[in-house]
Amino acid sequence: MRIASEISERILTAANNVELGKGDGKYRHRGSAVSRCSREMVLHAMGVPWTNPPNPLHGDQVVFHQGHDIEDRIISYMEGAGIPVGCGQMEVTGFTPFHDLAVKGHIDGIAFMPEDSPLAGKWLLFDVKSAGTFGYKKVQGDRNGDPNENHRKQLEVYAFSYVTDRSEKYDGVRGTRLCDLRFDGYEFGGCMVVYCSKERPTVYMRGGGKKELPRIHTCIFDVDEVDHDVTMEHFDLVEEHIKAGTIPSIPDRGDEMVWGRTDKKTGAKTAVRCDPRWCKRYDACQGKVPLEDIIVRED
Ligand code: SF4
Repeated sequence: MRIASEISERILTAANNVELGKGDGKYRHRGSAVSRCSREMVLHAMGVPWTNPPNPLHGDQVVFHQGHDIEDRIISYMEGAGIPVGCGQMEVTGFTPFHDLAVKGHIDGIAFMPEDSPLAGKWLLFDVKSAGTFGYKKVQGDRNGDPNENHRKQLEVYAFSYVTDRSEKYDGVRGTRLCDLRFDGYEFGGCMVVYCSKERPTVYMRGGGKKELPRIHTCIFDVDEVDHDVTMEHFDLVEEHIKAGTIPSIPDRGDEMVWGRTDKKTGAKTAVRCDPRWCKRYDACQGKVPLEDIIVRED
């Protein structure tokens, strides 16, 4: 048993070292951070390194790679289903409403809905997400087809961002707002999150037994520029703290930024993200290490 554990640990450590080697680098505003905790973002920008690096045994890097692999796989399934896909990993840049800060991101791609499918003649900005049981059931059932709020925000940010990718294949559209792109025979039809369940998706039936759910579920939605601006204010706020040298206070335990959950019966709130398991700057945030001892300042 001990030998088996040692071998597993060795493999997981190798996977984890990939993430440790990269670290999270210099702070930059990124579209993928729409739901990141603002306090953690400011600590990062101030030069606070990870005080709680990932534990190899948790295998977070393995899950991260699984997400990438499933994205490639789902895109190939979409193409096999006669849904052409383009603009994979194209760089886009959005701007914040108050300080006009550039927020960069990379889209998973654009799907062109063919004649024989629903939404024929529309193109959709899409993102592929692999989901655990809890998250998958939420989008598949409870939310009536609405995506996870953070996934919706991220795509909405990209939809109103501008093409900034330097690849020459985008020479003709660079500087165009994504939702204003025109393709022959296709018009913008909104966004789509393609969820793939990591585990076998089932629901319990009334009266006993389980019902199998489809392994893939898509959520399609319209975008709204006002909502986009509200989301982008997150980066303006973070920038204001960075400039003023102040750190945002710890968010309410029920806040989405810290994956707040409220117990329906007791009303008790739990900030799932505020844990050394999920927050890589937990000790710095919670005052367990003095910031002046760990801040890395650049020359
Ligand atoms: S512990 Fe919670 S509040 Fe503190 S930085 Fe991490 S996520 Fe944010």
